[in-house]
Amino acid sequence: MGIAAPSYLNPAATEDEAADSRLETAAPARRAKQRRHIQDLIGISYIVDAVILLVYAQAGIVPLWFGPAYALAGLALIGVAIMLSESGINERFNDHYMVVPQSIASMMVMMAFAYIAPQVGVLFLCSLFTVFSFVSLRTTPGQTAAVWTAMALALAGLFLLTDKPIAMPHGSPVERFATMLVFTLTIGRCMFLGLYSSSMQASLYQSRSRLKEAYRRIEELAELDELTGSFNRRCIMRMLDEEITRSARSSAPCSIALIDLDHFKRVNDTHGHPTGDEVLRTFAITVFANIRSVDRFGRYGGEEFLLLLPDLPNEGATLALDRLRAIVADLDWSAFSPGMKVTFSAGVATLRPGETTDSFLARADSALYAAKAQGRNRIARA
Ligand code: GH3
Ligand code: MG
Ligand code: MG
Repeated sequence: MGIAAPSYLNPAATEDEAADSRLETAAPARRAKQRRHIQDLIGISYIVDAVILLVYAQAGIVPLWFGPAYALAGLALIGVAIMLSESGINERFNDHYMVVPQSIASMMVMMAFAYIAPQVGVLFLCSLFTVFSFVSLRTTPGQTAAVWTAMALALAGLFLLTDKPIAMPHGSPVERFATMLVFTLTIGRCMFLGLYSSSMQASLYQSRSRLKEAYRRIEELAELDELTGSFNRRCIMRMLDEEITRSARSSAPCSIALIDLDHFKRVNDTHGHPTGDEVLRTFAITVFANIRSVDRFGRYGGEEFLLLLPDLPNEGATLALDRLRAIVADLDWSAFSPGMKVTFSAGVATLRPGETTDSFLARADSALYAAKAQGRNRIARA
């Protein structure tokens, strides 16, 4: 399998996990903050409209109190939305922004003001654009259709059931100026929502990448032995079964080696268990660095490993193992602890026609036992 970079070598992974769990607990607070931000923007939007209404008031189109009254109505709605949001009720809904009820309430306020002051009706109708652009960003198609239907009915009521002369003031320069403001600001707000939508997309993309990475880690953890970064027992046994099936089908040879570190108990006793762990890691990395990319290396248990050597006959496999044995024995283990020596013994077996996994492994195990009996630091063939 070549040189794998075992994930345990990456301390950032554990930090990521801690960060993820922190993110999980902070999520409601983060969403509440996002909602607060949106409510602030809607509030600013009402105030901007109120200022334009003051300009219309300047031109004598509406009374002076009309703009502040509109702002107050809008801000009252926002006040209710913020209270609900802070109480945590929003978290119970899929649509935690509660866009549907809030947009319908806003629409009713706008329609009511258009009914009271149809001479500046264009301002309220333009504001509906902003409201409904936002609705479609945050709701399902079904909710969007429902809100659109409500809006269509309200507009039908306003236009068809009343004879209110919904107007766009443009008589005096001040009126023209205010009407120009209505359009430019409406277009500006729609563009802002476009930007908001692209930033939402960017943040979704980031979450998707994080999820992908987490999924990759889970898959890796399910297959790899945490200490050595080699395949875990479940995984290497599955690979062994696959290899046996493949070899039986193709008649290609298939060899395995059961590897066991020599006197490993002594390594632990003399140099300590943590050093023993380091030795196991270094041993695994050394094996990874010296096997073919088609070979599979897994931890069979404790300080015992299983190496699958596809397409190698018994002799070739024994030679390969002896080469590995010499490399491990010649490593400068004294860097870990003065005087330390690490060697392994291995039993090599090659699949016989029709042989089962259990019998194949048992033969490799007997060979390993023989290698130990012959004095260790050696390879024995089944
Ligand atoms: P032999 O040459 O006959 O194999 O001798 P041995 O001492 O290696 O044999 P034995 O199987 O009796 O001992 C294996 C030791 O490996 C005992 C156990 O503490 C140690 N061991 C197993 N897993 C780990 C591990 O994950 N970390 C460390 N540090 N030691 C381990
Ligand atoms: Mg041992
Ligand atoms: Mg052992």
